[in-house]
Amino acid sequence: MMLTKKMIEIRNILQNIDQAETLQLPSIVVIGSQSSGKSSVLEAIVGHEFLPKGTNMVTRRPIELTLFNTPGLAAEYGEFPSLGLGKITDFNQIQRTLTDLNLAVSDEECVSDEPIQLHIYSPNVPDLTLIDLPGYVQVASLDQPDSIKQKIHQLCEKYIQAPNVILAISAADVDLANSSALKASRRVDPRGERTIGVITKIDLVEPRRGAEILLNRNYPLQMGYVGVITKTPSNNGLFRRNSNVSSLIAENENSYFSVNEEFEVCTVGTIALKKKLMYVLEKTMASSLQPTADAIHQELEESAYQFKVEYNDRRLTPETYLASSVDSFKVNFKEFTQMFGREEVKELLRFELDQKILDLVAQRYWNKPISNLESIDEASRLIDRPVSELSTAAKDDVYWQRKLDLASSTLTKLGIGRMSTNLVIDSLMLNMDKLIATTNFTSHPFAHTAIRDAASSILNNRFYSTADQVENCIKPYKYEIDVEDREWEISREHSYKLLKEELRQCDTALNAMKKIIGGKKLNKVMTFVESSRNGSVMNLSEGTEAYGFSQALITRGREALFLRERSDIIKLRMVAVKSRQCKDKENKYYCPEVFLNVVADKLTQTAVLFLNVELLSDFYHNFPRELDKRFGQSLSKDRIEAFAKEDPKIKKHIELQQRKELLQLALEKVEGVIEMQKSRAREESEL
Ligand code: GDP
Repeated sequence: MMLTKKMIEIRNILQNIDQAETLQLPSIVVIGSQSSGKSSVLEAIVGHEFLPKGTNMVTRRPIELTLFNTPGLAAEYGEFPSLGLGKITDFNQIQRTLTDLNLAVSDEECVSDEPIQLHIYSPNVPDLTLIDLPGYVQVASLDQPDSIKQKIHQLCEKYIQAPNVILAISAADVDLANSSALKASRRVDPRGERTIGVITKIDLVEPRRGAEILLNRNYPLQMGYVGVITKTPSNNGLFRRNSNVSSLIAENENSYFSVNEEFEVCTVGTIALKKKLMYVLEKTMASSLQPTADAIHQELEESAYQFKVEYNDRRLTPETYLASSVDSFKVNFKEFTQMFGREEVKELLRFELDQKILDLVAQRYWNKPISNLESIDEASRLIDRPVSELSTAAKDDVYWQRKLDLASSTLTKLGIGRMSTNLVIDSLMLNMDKLIATTNFTSHPFAHTAIRDAASSILNNRFYSTADQVENCIKPYKYEIDVEDREWEISREHSYKLLKEELRQCDTALNAMKKIIGGKKLNKVMTFVESSRNGSVMNLSEGTEAYGFSQALITRGREALFLRERSDIIKLRMVAVKSRQCKDKENKYYCPEVFLNVVADKLTQTAVLFLNVELLSDFYHNFPRELDKRFGQSLSKDRIEAFAKEDPKIKKHIELQQRKELLQLALEKVEGVIEMQKSRAREESEL
């Protein structure tokens, strides 16, 4: 029986090779009409009740039952290999799962020809593969769709083709001439060469009549008929559920058949049936070994050729693909770390602070006092004075002194710790996305998420401590800021450049507007808006389209006016920054732009120091390790395979390789079995 075991193994390998219908080893298919006792026979073979029952419970999908004889097993169990539910030792659970799978087939579909695979491991079962097909329906009941009869018929027809063996089940109390199973079998196997007849419910007819049926001369079958009594244990109340029923049925059969001598010349009992099935399956499989080997060989040659042509025999497994993807990502990451260091962080932060300075001076210094009465700094309670007065103000004018102190403290109290830490984290995350885009990972949503998670987990872990450290270290600047001459000079240069850039942007925006609206027209609107603001034109309520200007145009006019005024002030401030007054750091109150720049520079220097140590170095050290962890042993084989196959090109490569390897494996095994058979035949002939 080793042979059957090996062949079942081969059969399972072949099943995993897609589109390989030509590569199937034969199986035993079980057919019979409803209530013929089909389920009872299968359950007697398995030794448990496990098939869906209940009024009107028509099996809607074929069940491919593979039995593995497993000596010494502590607890028998079943497995649905394609569902991944693991080992199920409770056969009621198996029954429920099968019922659910059946009920999942919709009424429109009636029956599905997608088989349910069920493996059963037990010391009490023989090595066998059986395919249970939906029972033939004699009369469709009211709530069954009309087409069900037809569909079941078609489904069975597909499975009973050669070289499969047909197990045709008929009940003794029904005239064999009416047996749907025998009718079907005779159509495809007219000479009765690959059909085993099973006659159930022998106990329901007279022993003499029973024996007559079994010795059937009207419908002779080369493999003959087997008579069984497989009344399910729960039905006659003799047996406990979930206990092994095979031996109990066998005892029951034995006590019936042994007292009725009519059966002496017949094959009877489920034990005999099991033996017959094993023998027949082994013989049938054995005879199809050579044709199967030839078919595998041919498929293998085709796959190997394709693999050579398309992939130059380059081996690729999900594992090697993952490892090389991670490696190349790490190489790119290493390069990135060399390009994104202290200087880059400094630039990042400086740019951000420059924008804050511009906002600050615009808000506090560059206002047009009359039009912005509401935005006067509430805290200072000072009357807003135009910045144009600044250069001529007295040196000890408290107004300008307080104004600068406030602006500077706004800057130091921005929350530089959090702001700068966030800035660096966001930038790193953005760069990780860019890195992903340049590697294999770009076509792997799973990896993309895993990398982002790895990065953000490290960075978020460091967030609070980094932000706190930075905030602590800039604390002194909140109280006092000492300025060196050199610092002042550098900041003066920087401020000038900043103002120049701001001016450029203002002018660009204004010019763009002129282009769209037309210079003349825009000028007119601007004049109109300006004079209406000063009260020289009748105040216009919103929405009034007076003077031929639409509301949209008036809005544009306001924006343009704002830009022009902003640009005038900036020019003024550029002159101020360049002036002799601003050359001297002692005159800081006259030069808020320069002073705030000094502050920003100090904040940046200090923040960068800690960001570099606390965040960057830490991230650069830990991130590759975190990647190893996430892409290493914690990933299951299935996960890695699913990952690799996310990329269609890789999927194709891997699948072709897997197919080739499975074919190789199957061929090796088939050839091994053929060799085993030959040596067995030699031994027998020598004896
Ligand atoms: P299926 O519809 O073909 O799967 O048939 P079942 O296995 O469910 O059996 C139909 C009915 O026949 C059930 O009530 C069984 O208990 C009963 N039955 C099955 N085998 C025998 C048998 O050998 N003798 C008797 N008397 N009843 C049986």
